[in-house]
Amino acid sequence: MDYGADYDFSRPFFTQYKELLERIPHPSRETIESTLVNSDYCNIASYLKNSYLVFNSDYDEDCAYSSYLERSSRCFDITMGDLSELCYESHNIYKCNRVIFSDNCNECVDVAFSKDCIACEHCFGCVNLRNKQYHIFNQPFTKEGYFEEIKKYDPGSYKVRQELTERLGALSRSLPKRYAHGLKNAEVKGDFIFNSKNVSESYEVTDAQDCKYCHFLFIASTKDAYDFTMWGGGAERVYECMGTGGGQSDIRFCYECWSSDTRKLEYCMYSQGNDLFGCMGVRKKQYCILNKQYSREEYEALRGRIVEQMRTMPYTDAKGNAYPYGEFFPSEISPFNYRETMAQMYFPLTQAEVVAQGFNGKHFDETKQYDIRVSADDLPDNIKDVRDSITDEIIGCTHRGTCGEQCTTAFRVTPAELEFYRRMNLPLPRLCPNCRHYARVSDGPGLDFHARRCMCSGENSEGGHYRNHAAHLHGAAACENTFETAYAPGRPEIVYCEQCYQAETA
Ligand SMILES: [Zn+2]
Ligand SMILES: [Zn+2]
Ligand SMILES: [Zn+2]
Repeated sequence: MDYGADYDFSRPFFTQYKELLERIPHPSRETIESTLVNSDYCNIASYLKNSYLVFNSDYDEDCAYSSYLERSSRCFDITMGDLSELCYESHNIYKCNRVIFSDNCNECVDVAFSKDCIACEHCFGCVNLRNKQYHIFNQPFTKEGYFEEIKKYDPGSYKVRQELTERLGALSRSLPKRYAHGLKNAEVKGDFIFNSKNVSESYEVTDAQDCKYCHFLFIASTKDAYDFTMWGGGAERVYECMGTGGGQSDIRFCYECWSSDTRKLEYCMYSQGNDLFGCMGVRKKQYCILNKQYSREEYEALRGRIVEQMRTMPYTDAKGNAYPYGEFFPSEISPFNYRETMAQMYFPLTQAEVVAQGFNGKHFDETKQYDIRVSADDLPDNIKDVRDSITDEIIGCTHRGTCGEQCTTAFRVTPAELEFYRRMNLPLPRLCPNCRHYARVSDGPGLDFHARRCMCSGENSEGGHYRNHAAHLHGAAACENTFETAYAPGRPEIVYCEQCYQAETA
């Protein structure tokens, strides 16, 4: 409250809010600090123990290099996971155990180099399987035959890993994909939506109801939200917010505000309380504007006048865009350079484009000066040949900062990580954690949705992906079903409607 100011009706609201942001200290991380144990290098996180470089994640133990990972333990290099253990290098896993180099797997145990499998055990190189055991590249084996056969592939070798990844990619491209990823939904449109009802135009959302234009809602539950990015956790009636959750309600145009007794906030950052407008870092307060305390009557009258002034005298950014009441904070007052945010992953821009489009292009030094002594290309091929001293090395990322993937140019292997690789028989990575993250999600669909028709072309379908003829209701004719999918037209995937996909995976 020491940083508070009187409202000045001769200047736009955001000009004054920007000044408040500039004079007040910001938290070093966006975490619920008291819930983190030995997890200093984590952000946008809560309830972590012994975790390292874990982001946008909660309730994890002994995890590293992961994001959107919930309620998991001993997992490394996971993007989007829940209730999983001992998993590695996978994207979108749910209730999995010992799942490695696999994507879109639910309730699987001991599954490697596989995609889109449900309730499978001891499967290797498989795609679209349901309730199967002892399969290798979609072929059944006896239990003994399975363990004999997989001896031919040593996943501890980086070269073998590369070969298997390529072989899995070829098999996956030859088989149909469901138009969207998801589970236990009713009336949803979007991708990676789970256990949700009446949710549309949303991406990576769990346990939501009556929501639209949402992204990264991972902790149950979210109700009645629009234009909401990140979190949930009992949030209700949320509009144009980012990084909010934890039981609050009636929150609009806010960034990083949480706690269960938080209600009726507008244009606040890092604030908790009730009836707050334009505050930053305020805790357990009511009727405050620009971090200044008012009576209830004063607050209501002043808030009304500011809302009106925002309409008649909106803030205008350097590009001439107006920000009246109802818009989120202008991106140019973001404390972060565009290129160090997640926007860069979905909509990559060069530094020149960042500046030209009016985003924050300042305060970000992208040059890295690590004393790299080992190149990733010179690492031993097999984990069995790696010495303990590798944990002392600064290893150069194969991409050398030239990839546009927020490459940090160098990385290290921690002792806990080395132990994990040895225990699981996994080769050392060759890329830095950021490049690994990009690689995991690179063949996923985009954030745009497209109205498309099922690609199942009937009984004369070419390419060998139409096997279970009897189960396709459309018979010899091409399937007429349409859907909205994040797979853009022209992409190589064979995209099927629900019916045809189920027919092929039953
Ligand atoms: Zn890199
Ligand atoms: Zn179809
Ligand atoms: Zn079909």
